Amino acid sequence: MSSPSFRERLVWEPATGEILDQTRRYFMLRPDGFMGMFKRLDGPTRIAALEALEASIFEGGSDSARAYRAMGGEGADLARIVAATAPQLGWGTWEVTIEPDRLFVAVRNSPFAEGYGPSDIPVCAPMRGMVRAVATLVFDKPAVARETACAAMGAPLCTFEARPA
Ligand SMILES: [Zn+2]
Repeated sequence: MSSPSFRERLVWEPATGEILDQTRRYFMLRPDGFMGMFKRLDGPTRIAALEALEASIFEGGSDSARAYRAMGGEGADLARIVAATAPQLGWGTWEVTIEPDRLFVAVRNSPFAEGYGPSDIPVCAPMRGMVRAVATLVFDKPAVARETACAAMGAPLCTFEARPA
């Protein structure tokens, strides 16, 4: 029997106004509202803010990924759990490929790209942070991740590549 999905684990607590996956709290935002913040920043500040968001999601995402690993996900299984969880978060659909020294993720329908609109730089920093978190656990060493194509730049998919640092 498989463990419950992210969506099955979520608990809405109206008394406290919380949405919880065990101890991990979530909340909802419209992608256009969230990504509109970055559009209001000048170029260098926008890049710095996207980098800070990547680092922040890496930290929180590492905690989530460790919890997924504790549910029985190592290596390819962990990647499978993350890929299964992403659509339930509203983070598009993920296809993860693991090679000995490379993790590749193709995302269709990124809410971050859609929320931002046309861009001359990749904007899916939260996904990049999550990909780095997963790669760090899969390779069991620090990893680096980059978004190699972004739907906000006109690509059909957002693609991410992570490697051991
Ligand atoms: Zn993207």
